Amino acid sequence: MSDEETNKPCVVRIAPSPSGYLHVGTARTAIFNWLYARKHNGKFLIRIEDTDTERSEADLIQPILDALKWLGMESDEDIVYQSTRDEIHRSYVAKLLDSGSAYRCFCSKERLAEVRELAMKEKRAPRYDRTCANLSEQEVTAKVEAGDSFVIRIKIPEGSTTYTDMVLSDITRENSEIEDFVVARANGSALYNLAVVVDDHEMGVTDVIRGNDHITNTFKQIHIYRALELNAPRFAHVPLLLRPDKRKISKRLGDKDVAEYGADGVLPQTMFNYLCLLGWSPKDGREIMAREEIMEAFDVQGINKNNPVFDVQKLNAFNKEHIKIAPIEQLLELISPKLQEAGLVSSDWLADEDNQLYLAKVIDLMRERMRIVDDFIVSAGFFFTDEFGYDQKGDRKQFVPESADRLTALADAFDSASTFDLEALEAALDEVAEKHDVKRAAFIHPTRLAVSGLTVGPGLFDLLVLVGKEKTLARMRRAADYIRTKKTEVTP
Ligand code: GLU
Repeated sequence: MSDEETNKPCVVRIAPSPSGYLHVGTARTAIFNWLYARKHNGKFLIRIEDTDTERSEADLIQPILDALKWLGMESDEDIVYQSTRDEIHRSYVAKLLDSGSAYRCFCSKERLAEVRELAMKEKRAPRYDRTCANLSEQEVTAKVEAGDSFVIRIKIPEGSTTYTDMVLSDITRENSEIEDFVVARANGSALYNLAVVVDDHEMGVTDVIRGNDHITNTFKQIHIYRALELNAPRFAHVPLLLRPDKRKISKRLGDKDVAEYGADGVLPQTMFNYLCLLGWSPKDGREIMAREEIMEAFDVQGINKNNPVFDVQKLNAFNKEHIKIAPIEQLLELISPKLQEAGLVSSDWLADEDNQLYLAKVIDLMRERMRIVDDFIVSAGFFFTDEFGYDQKGDRKQFVPESADRLTALADAFDSASTFDLEALEAALDEVAEKHDVKRAAFIHPTRLAVSGLTVGPGLFDLLVLVGKEKTLARMRRAADYIRTKKTEVTP
């Protein structure tokens, strides 16, 4: 039954375990959940699964929340911290014991190891042999009173279990594949799968969208829902992200987390867009999409089953497209500190309004060519300093002896032009090129190298106008002098 039919608003959640920073895979699962909630007028919640105290680190929680926020996702209600819910979990453990759906297991580690070994020898799947399921009430009481240690296992019924996955359709597992697994410790505290079920139920979660590595947990959780006589949510299992070498993405293999990509200059809208398209695509095949367009087009049924590859080259290509259309304020905010860090400008310089306008113009001119924000520092540094060297290859190719006189002649023509704008500069170039009887290119390339130190960049005249008359002429004359010195050095 769909939510439209039941009229029940949907509630989804992302439940990160703070055992590392925000992984791109978790970010993508969060995005799918967030989109689903927005699409169905539902709620998107965040639950921090911080019960595993050995692995979880409190210091990692805030960075995870920050990275989710950076991607534009915040919890629609107070964040739930699983570690604070121990009492609630315990009450459900008691319910399971009271109803007889779970039982205490007193088997020692050694005995369990023997059971496992025997199963392996007989080539059976290792599973608990239910010895303690058959203890009488008196036997159990006696053992508890004697202080024997125990865990609490759920009774898995005979038969098979089927559920309809929103991505993978009907999935069936034989119940015999699942042993009577442990749901709680002797002290009554719940283990992972039970805690998830209790929290999802209490948070009113209607739809669980998570990685397909959780399918086995899903079957276990369905058994817990049944034992507790609760309705299970709908499930959607999304494909896992892989590295280009088809291994799972992993910090240990050097894969970056979301915040690290952000620090490298990937825009949040790029990350959101790219992650969404890993495993999902709109019907019309569009790639570069704004968040609103994705929200419009998103459909959980459109998620496919194959595990997609997270490709940094592709991410950068997406970023290039998003930089072209990003609001200038966002780029100013990202680029300003990087310029300062690179020592190209000072904080006083940045505080000046005219300089902000200049910087915005430079960004607008350069954004067509930037893949990541850091590219700006390399390709636009000359807008902020005179201290740059010449590209070595360009130097050899463009700064040939004849270029010295050409640069001087063109600088003189620019100097005497009535204005320093595109038309005037272009007309001056045409005139000088004709007079020297050479192609425009013989002037254009050395001029670009003289003024920017680089051989590639935006349209030359746009660049010169923005650098300004004074600096352009000085740099052209400086390059002419340099070429003449070079000439005398190489031809004694
Ligand atoms: N804490 C789990 C994880 O980080 C999420 C479990 C779930 O979504 O149910 O993989």
